[in-house]
Amino acid sequence: MDWKKIKKIDSHVHVTFRKMIGSDIKLNTPEKFLGVMKEHNIQKAVVVPINYPYYHAKKSMGENSFELLKFNNNCQARIAKFSKKLICFADIDLFGIEVKDTLQELERAIHNLKLKGIKIHPYNQGIKCNDKRIVEVMYFAKANDLPVIIHSFPQKNKKNTYSSSPKYIVELLQKVKSERVLISHMGGKDYNELRKIKCWFDFSFAGREFWYELGHEKLEKIIRNIGVERCCFSSDYASMEYKKYYEYLNKMNFSSDEITNISYENAEKFLKI
Ligand SMILES: [Zn+2]
Repeated sequence: MDWKKIKKIDSHVHVTFRKMIGSDIKLNTPEKFLGVMKEHNIQKAVVVPINYPYYHAKKSMGENSFELLKFNNNCQARIAKFSKKLICFADIDLFGIEVKDTLQELERAIHNLKLKGIKIHPYNQGIKCNDKRIVEVMYFAKANDLPVIIHSFPQKNKKNTYSSSPKYIVELLQKVKSERVLISHMGGKDYNELRKIKCWFDFSFAGREFWYELGHEKLEKIIRNIGVERCCFSSDYASMEYKKYYEYLNKMNFSSDEITNISYENAEKFLKI
């Protein structure tokens, strides 16, 4: 199977109007990315922010967190206008502003700007994923039947990445009883935790690390153990190139039905499109 040629939905990409110095966020304008999508047969892509105040904004715009958050969501809406192929999620800020203000901004982002879901990046927010502020955001998402993508990539020897550990996400989802959640990067080294909850997941970034360390057969086994029926293809483009996924996906032995599940059908269910 040639993963470059098959039809795909990408559940995690970054589209930006500028390069962010000192980060892995690259310049990837909507116009440029639409060309990349065509080349790689990506039918639709979920465009996510990262809960960092200066994601779209520049430092020269000042330090008013509420204004920066609004600016980030306005940029997400601007990206959404380029093409129906781009499904843009809303940004939040639970660190710089009060949770009630984030919820107010989410109302605007979802109902006025028509953004389609919420991205939560606990590590960038500097809070644990079972934090009561995230609980409130999750209740908002549940009440509005919105898909939520949560960054989860704890890494060995990087203690500050542990705030996004799947064990906290398990606590969160058990409390909120929400199932319309996609765990990005498959929970990193703690991927086994995902078996305790009903959620979607992707192997962006993390899959490559496991492939290097364990080989494609073991990675395939790990994905099967968590559940092919809830695995969504995601790239984290432009931080990671598509060809880096094909290197191991093309070697794997998923059936054609399983490939259809992973490449777009599961994402259609998660996104309800
Ligand atoms: Zn990302």
